[in-house]
Amino acid sequence: MQKLLNKPQHTEKRSCRSVFPTRIAVIAVFLLVIATALILFFIHYGGKRTYRYTPDTKIILYHLINDETYGSNEYLFVKEADFEEQLKTLRDEGYQTFFADEPYKIKNGEKAVVITFDDGYEDNYTIAFPLLQKYGMKATVFLPSSMIGTEGHLSEAQIKEMQESGLFHFGSHTVTHAKLDTALSEEIERELSESKTAIEAIIGKPVTALAYPNGAYNDMVELFAEKHGYLYCYTTNPPQEPYYENTALPRSYVTRNMPIEEFRALLVTE
Ligand SMILES: [Zn+2]
Repeated sequence: MQKLLNKPQHTEKRSCRSVFPTRIAVIAVFLLVIATALILFFIHYGGKRTYRYTPDTKIILYHLINDETYGSNEYLFVKEADFEEQLKTLRDEGYQTFFADEPYKIKNGEKAVVITFDDGYEDNYTIAFPLLQKYGMKATVFLPSSMIGTEGHLSEAQIKEMQESGLFHFGSHTVTHAKLDTALSEEIERELSESKTAIEAIIGKPVTALAYPNGAYNDMVELFAEKHGYLYCYTTNPPQEPYYENTALPRSYVTRNMPIEEFRALLVTE
């Protein structure tokens, strides 16, 4: 008993000298780790709004909905019956549709899909629009502004009608469908700003979503996109990460004759 009482006293005396500096060192290291983590976090995310790409949010990319193909990119033409089957699948699986410029409305864990169309082809109005009306689903069309009203593309009147239906929003796909990653900085800025102004003049509301033509972008393009007021920018990269910068959001291609199982696989959480 005597031994037991004495021993702790002895240990305590020693600990006053040795443990105190150790505690300070531990606290200092802990604070250093926290500070480093915070610095790294702000370097990585500072000033950027990171969109939380939840496993249940799917961003789908279409171009044309047309049984007939023309030109060389046949794979871009999704057949009408296939498109309808895909919409039915989304409905049956309980997915809600959201606009590309409103992903902030998606709640965590919600089964959400963002349907996008690139290039503003006329069949988005003649074929896709009635089917989206039938299923009450929303979609976003990315327009190269210089192609509006040209042969095979949406006219201003069609864009207005689609917008007024409440089922469509419109984003920019630059002025000339420019490959931005290899463009000069003045050209990038002109493509981003002039397309935004032109589309806003038609739809009468701010354009805040952008799809990079050919999915081509780099750090400079992302900076210019933010500078010109684009809040959500879409690539053609398939989703692989749980989090993405708002300036480089992933999309999954839907291509011609894609089996419905393959479409369904796009919706499966990895
Ligand atoms: Zn395109």
